[in-house]
Amino acid sequence: MFGFKSIPKESGRKGTLRVAGSNRVAPIAAGETHLGAAVREDIPFPRMCNVGECGACKCRLTRGQIRLKKDISRHVSTEELSSGFILACQSVAESAEVEVEVLGAGDDGSVRQAPRRLEASITQMTMLAPDVCELELSLAADIDYVAGQYAQLTVPEVPGLDEPRCYSFAEAPTGRSSRRRAIFHVRHVPGGAFTGWLFAADRTGARVCLSGPHGGFCYREADRPLLCVAAGTGLAPIKAILEQGLAEGFTQDVTLVVGARTRRDLYAIESILAIQQRWHGWFTFVPVLSKESESSTWGGRRGRVTDYLRERETSLADCAAYLCGPPAMIDSALEVLRHRIPAKHLHHDRFLDRGSMAPAASAVA
Ligand SMILES: Cc1cc2nc3c(=O)[nH]c(=O)nc-3n(C[C@H](O)[C@H](O)[C@H](O)COP(=O)(O)OP(=O)(O)OC[C@H]3O[C@@H](n4cnc5c(N)ncnc54)[C@H](O)[C@@H]3O)c2cc1C
Repeated sequence: MFGFKSIPKESGRKGTLRVAGSNRVAPIAAGETHLGAAVREDIPFPRMCNVGECGACKCRLTRGQIRLKKDISRHVSTEELSSGFILACQSVAESAEVEVEVLGAGDDGSVRQAPRRLEASITQMTMLAPDVCELELSLAADIDYVAGQYAQLTVPEVPGLDEPRCYSFAEAPTGRSSRRRAIFHVRHVPGGAFTGWLFAADRTGARVCLSGPHGGFCYREADRPLLCVAAGTGLAPIKAILEQGLAEGFTQDVTLVVGARTRRDLYAIESILAIQQRWHGWFTFVPVLSKESESSTWGGRRGRVTDYLRERETSLADCAAYLCGPPAMIDSALEVLRHRIPAKHLHHDRFLDRGSMAPAASAVA
């Protein structure tokens, strides 16, 4: 853990924020965070909680001096901090000019694709499971991304939906019929504002705003078999990564473990089986149901995905792991795997939502 200084009250100083690799510039008001300045100027920047809890706004300081408002060691290690990694929502300029690099899917810091903000409209909603729909967007301009990354959606015309919600691209960029199309798998979250709105009616034709691509969850080259673990809509980016692997002729063996509550909640099975059939190496698909009725005819595994991982932890030790889904699943899976798989081969994306961040967020506010 490293120390941090609290920011002095309004110093009256103003500065400029520059985004490396782009011509975007934002004036910074005294005491304002970099994220605040970027958002005010409509600069696409990954963000969610704004209070240092989610880590979405992690970026790299490439020029200038800053102060941190609070300890960010949950999201930025000491080594990363010394390489300039910060959270934009917790950093305040100490020099007149500050430059940051918005992280993409390149190797920790190299931006492959600068995020953009695009107008979009919903062209199709297809139910995949009782509470999951496939959302197809038509975009006003092309978007390029790396399989595993995500976009943030807002609905400017609907009050209360101007705060971004994150959704992972659910198909490999190479598989798209058009670069102006994006597909997401969206789960209806009970009590959720955006998904409550989305699932309440047929929203075909509705206008949304997309910012992206964001995030560094993507395939990292390694000569290891792949262990992919998804729960719920965590399958979306995993499916995209596997489709990309298929397109690029990967030959590694794959174990894909998919967790769902019941058989009805397992979705995209045909897509997975199609990938399995065409995969060049071994492809083991393990669906695991946690709440399937005892009386059902389900002959597959029951329990939690972590039960499977615990049973196989020795044989999975030589894998590179890709985990995606609710934070609780990721944390339990990591607990099992981190004793076996070196950290550099453990990749994960937590599907945080406002519920999981709320207590910490309100404590800070
Ligand atoms: C990188 C990333 C990628 C993601 N990808 C996907 C994806 O591909 N598919 C997918 O389905 N999801 C994904 N998610 C999760 C998704 O972004 C949203 O969290 C989800 O859709 C909820 O949006 P919502 O507006 O419906 O719910 P919200 O309004 O944000 O609420 C979410 C939950 O929090 C509760 N809540 C809200 N405010 C408070 C409060 N103040 N106190 C206590 N509880 C509160 C609500 O009741 C609800 O249960 C991803 C998340 C991340 C971080």
